[in-house]
Amino acid sequence: MSIATADPFAWIDAAAEQRRSAGLVRTLRPRPAVGDVLDLASNDYLGLTHDPRVTRAAADAALRWGGGATGSRLVTGTTELHAELEQELADFCGVEAALVFSSGYTANLAALTALTGPGALIVSDALNHASLIDGCRLSRARVARAAHRDPDAFRAELATRSEERAIAVSDSVFSVDGDAAPLAALAAACRDHGAALVVDDAHGLGVLGPGGAGATAAAGLAGAPDVVTTVTLSKSLASQGGAVLGPRRVIEHLVQAARTFIFDTGLAPAAAGAALGALRALRAEPSRAERAREVAHALSTGLLERGLAASVPDAAVVGVRAPSPEAALAWATELRARGLGVGCFRPPSVPDRFSRLRLTARADLTDEQIAWAVDLIAETARR
Ligand code: PMP
Repeated sequence: MSIATADPFAWIDAAAEQRRSAGLVRTLRPRPAVGDVLDLASNDYLGLTHDPRVTRAAADAALRWGGGATGSRLVTGTTELHAELEQELADFCGVEAALVFSSGYTANLAALTALTGPGALIVSDALNHASLIDGCRLSRARVARAAHRDPDAFRAELATRSEERAIAVSDSVFSVDGDAAPLAALAAACRDHGAALVVDDAHGLGVLGPGGAGATAAAGLAGAPDVVTTVTLSKSLASQGGAVLGPRRVIEHLVQAARTFIFDTGLAPAAAGAALGALRALRAEPSRAERAREVAHALSTGLLERGLAASVPDAAVVGVRAPSPEAALAWATELRARGLGVGCFRPPSVPDRFSRLRLTARADLTDEQIAWAVDLIAETARR
């Protein structure tokens, strides 16, 4: 066959076959309706996704402002809801200003690309989220990978650099095992070497810190002039979207320079409304943050007591190691059949070679539900 008549997508079939034979095909499955399973798989840490304060705020926002943002933020995509959300997020997290994006992913791309560039250095934790890795790549800065949660490794890269501008970037809570970054030590390393710290607090906002103000606040870094925090609105805040939080001059710079802000359609009004509803619900009930952490601890402790290899959670995520990818999948399938939804992570979506279940705590789980889930997981793993 000549090159001109070759099937341009034949390689996709070959890649799919490879994936099939390795048992690594990912499938899209509709989420069960509320009440059909006990959900320990979602990122709804505060249990607010179905709260009427959230769903009503989303509906009201759509009725008032429409189904979509209608344009980019700098043209027609900013409503008063966006401005209110930015103000309330900034107040809640104790920073000067916030800027809302259509996702946490685009917020991360914005922070990393607009704050660095060719001739700058980014020191990045080896297990950072994919969106941070992509931000590093898009930035065209030099990227140095630092060992996971190792402030000395960050310090060494910052100290030996030739670039004038540098930032360090880390997840606050890592998404697979729920372990936390040593943010205070990372900030100190940055300060000693004239670098800024960017923290992705996707899994810390609403769970860590006073009243759920996040990992940056928990580390005493809220409002620091050299710290920038990114968040998603899709986990604790029960909506969709993202934000960058930090010093006003940084936020103003992003409005002018961040391509994923300027060229992306604004966050849908319903999503802005839902996030505002969730933020206000959390402020009215700050104990939800503590309860999410308590539930995670109860899950982890219960599973450890039954001999399972559960992680000790720093926030709301618990990883449970399985002996093999097949076992992890079999456990997750069996649990789902028996009414418990859990996440299942296998290579290549794990930071090491260990497949595991990923359990997420929710502030609205009862002690009875936790005990039932622990028993069911232990029993399933034993068989
Ligand atoms: N950072 C981390 C650590 C995440 O876990 C996620 C979401 N899975 C994101 C960023 C991206 O956020 P979003 O889903 O809002 O794009």
